[in-house]
Amino acid sequence: MPIDFTLTPELEDIRLRVRTFVDEVIKPAEERMGGDDDLARDEYIRIILGLRAKAQEAGIWLPHMPTEWGGMGLSHVELAMVQAEAAKSRLGPWVFNCQAPDEGNMHTLLHWATDEQKEKYLRPLCEGRMMSCFAMTEPEVAGSDPTLIQTRAYQDGDEWVINGHKWFISNAHRAQFAILLARTEDDPDLPQAANTGFIVDIPSEGWNEVREVETMHGSTGHSEILIEDLRVPASNMLGGRGQGHMLGQYRLGPARLAHCMRWIAQAETALDMMVDRALNRFSHGSLLAEKQGIQWMIADSTMELYQAKLMVLHAAYRIDNKLDFKSEVSMAKHFVANALGRIIDRSIQVHGALGYSTDTPLASMYQHARWARFADGADEVHQMRIAQRTIAAYKDDGSTRAATGDLPL
Ligand SMILES: Cc1cc2nc3c(=O)[nH]c(=O)nc-3n(C[C@H](O)[C@H](O)[C@H](O)COP(=O)(O)OP(=O)(O)OC[C@H]3O[C@@H](n4cnc5c(N)ncnc54)[C@H](O)[C@@H]3O)c2cc1C
Repeated sequence: MPIDFTLTPELEDIRLRVRTFVDEVIKPAEERMGGDDDLARDEYIRIILGLRAKAQEAGIWLPHMPTEWGGMGLSHVELAMVQAEAAKSRLGPWVFNCQAPDEGNMHTLLHWATDEQKEKYLRPLCEGRMMSCFAMTEPEVAGSDPTLIQTRAYQDGDEWVINGHKWFISNAHRAQFAILLARTEDDPDLPQAANTGFIVDIPSEGWNEVREVETMHGSTGHSEILIEDLRVPASNMLGGRGQGHMLGQYRLGPARLAHCMRWIAQAETALDMMVDRALNRFSHGSLLAEKQGIQWMIADSTMELYQAKLMVLHAAYRIDNKLDFKSEVSMAKHFVANALGRIIDRSIQVHGALGYSTDTPLASMYQHARWARFADGADEVHQMRIAQRTIAAYKDDGSTRAATGDLPL
């Protein structure tokens, strides 16, 4: 089995083009824009649309989608290289139209939608004419356990009528449609087969945005939605009855890994900044970079980032090769989310008061990074599943080897 980490010249060219575009087009625009709160929303969207037009001209658009949908036709391993460049800027994924939750929704629609649904929802999403959201989590029950979902849908002729309550629905405020999970089955064979996916047009009567929830990173974008007698045509069911859980699982594999790819970019930015600061700050007779305490922080961060990259590449390889990837994605998601927090934290430490200020992006990166440990699967839920698979592997084979990536060593 060849293990080769070199890139083809074509892929290396794409990676460098993305890097150059981020450095020369997106980052200067980001600097001119200031923080989220400095700009009116209309102005913000106008700038993003302008950058998107330039990205499309440069042929950097939809890196995660097949060419027939206007994408770059990359494998997941190749996508990792592009996402890790794109997310060096906060706006990068938005500009290339590969941001959450649209990116995960595109995968879901590509796999589950009917041809009519694809033309109506996937096509405009790919072309950047629509935005979307994914509505699963509810305030009343643990989002970690979708079998508890209380939002209900019942059939009434050619329509489904939905009532319920969702929150933390990212992008709902600007989306033109939602992929929503609701309970449709009273007595399913398996608890996981109670829910069904629906595509909901926004706005729709009965889809009521209560507020955008303010979070620790200040800016909003995650909405609370009250759903009251919302009517959805039967043709807007996504997948079959009771397949909502499968749909969510299918979505979350690549979507979780795409988060990891973007977090690698953020972790690398934090480590670059840590080293730069250590090379330029002098204290007690030497540069910070010459002090062992600081070198340990640099070394720990370097090793963690290296582990993160290998785990993401291997999980992506398993997706590309149609191998079971659940464990590897789970392990990558848990590890990268935690490594990200630790690396940014160390970088703040090395920067001292400057790191705590908003003069550098570190404070904002730290606030954004915190959600990574529980959204799209809380740490403890991933640990529970990883342990279950390791125990099962040992019971089946008398060895845990298959649970550690099933690697040939
Ligand atoms: C910024 C952000 C964006 C989000 N975007 C979306 C979105 O677009 N759409 C959407 O539907 N949701 C979204 N969410 C919600 C997110 O998916 C949930 O927060 C997540 O699934 C956890 O659910 P919960 O918040 O209800 O926490 P709970 O399920 O109540 O869990 C709370 C804590 O309990 C512990 N826990 C839970 N289960 C176990 C277990 N089995 N064993 C041990 N410990 C456990 C964990 O420590 C966990 O962090 C978003 C959240 C955030 C913060």
